Amino acid sequence: MDLMEYQAKELFAKHGVPVTVGTVITDAADAESAAEAHGGKVVVKAQVKTGGRGKAGGVKLANNPQEAAEKAGEILGMDIKGHTVHRVLIAPAAEIAEEYYFSFLLDRANRNYLCIASIEGGVEIEVTAKEKPDAVAKVAIDPQTGVDDAKVDEIIEATRFPEDVRDLARDMIKKLWKVFVEEDATLVEVNPLVKLGDGSLEALDGKVSLDGNADFRHEDHAGFELVEDVDPLELAAAEKDLNYVKLDGAVGIIGNGAGLVMSTLDVVAYAGEAHGGVKPANFLDIGGGASAQVMTDGLHIILGDDQVKSVFVNVFGGITACDAVANGIVGALDALGDEANKPLVVRLDGNNVEEGRRILDEADHPLVTIMDTMDGAADKAAELANA
Ligand code: ADP
Ligand code: MG
Repeated sequence: MDLMEYQAKELFAKHGVPVTVGTVITDAADAESAAEAHGGKVVVKAQVKTGGRGKAGGVKLANNPQEAAEKAGEILGMDIKGHTVHRVLIAPAAEIAEEYYFSFLLDRANRNYLCIASIEGGVEIEVTAKEKPDAVAKVAIDPQTGVDDAKVDEIIEATRFPEDVRDLARDMIKKLWKVFVEEDATLVEVNPLVKLGDGSLEALDGKVSLDGNADFRHEDHAGFELVEDVDPLELAAAEKDLNYVKLDGAVGIIGNGAGLVMSTLDVVAYAGEAHGGVKPANFLDIGGGASAQVMTDGLHIILGDDQVKSVFVNVFGGITACDAVANGIVGALDALGDEANKPLVVRLDGNNVEEGRRILDEADHPLVTIMDTMDGAADKAAELANA
């Protein structure tokens, strides 16, 4: 999970990294009082999960509370690289003397951790790395030993931090490493890490990615999940314990087993090319047990997606045999009644397939088309979605 700047700063504060979090608001009417609380002269910063907000006009200086309200009004609702701004952060304007770049990240290619740092920060580090590779230090970190005093010194040397900030930088680096390890992050980035007018250091921006595999040992991380980020259909699916991912196409997909569902998406996307370019509308793996209840829950979610024009049920009977799946489909259509209003293409194969098909034939539901092969079914579903 990627965090917003203000959330990253909350984590920084928890570990003693010097930051001023500021106040998050969603309504420009609250900007004046927030700005007053932070001394009047503030920055108004769009909170969206993408970098380059400054360049895009999403970070603006305000000299007084009235100006803060104006800027907040301008920034709220703005689109930054496809992200709508729902929140802005009002934080005291810092007196910046120097801007540095600092990050810890998981270096997948080298199966290692990596520190990237530069005293030429503030701007995009990719640009600096390309134009002035010497200005960007890269220090590998052995996960077994982590960032000990020797490693901190190595980072300080490699980055060529100025003498006057070295002690503060040492302390900051140790604390950022604590954030990285103790919060199970895969990225901790501070750009800019600034030297202020009084010589102190502060993290003026923060970008943190948390490793979702470690969520079980961080109950507090759930609080970082923002409601507007979660698709309502995905939320409903999660409540029913369904493995569902919303996509943008018109063919709803239900299958059993992640591998089968993935290949179903491919086959439908390919078949769609001959039918107006229709695409899969979702990923939904109902797993091993394809009971009437799971089928009903799955169909309910998929039919609730207005973009869906047809549904492709692709099941390979294994431990849960095809007759149980067929009964599940018939039961689900019964339970859904009028809500089931889009054509269903069903392809069953595997354990007890004859009996499964017989059950569907007998039910003779007007919306159901039974197909023998996966390719044939994908083609039919795409054709129906394009009709
Ligand atoms: P982004 O990286 O998305 O562009 P930043 O938070 O890094 O957003 O802000 C961009 C620039 O705005 C910073 O490099 C810094 O120069 C300036 N800035 C950010 N926060 C403050 C602040 N609190 N006070 C003064 N200037 C700031
Ligand atoms: Mg930044």
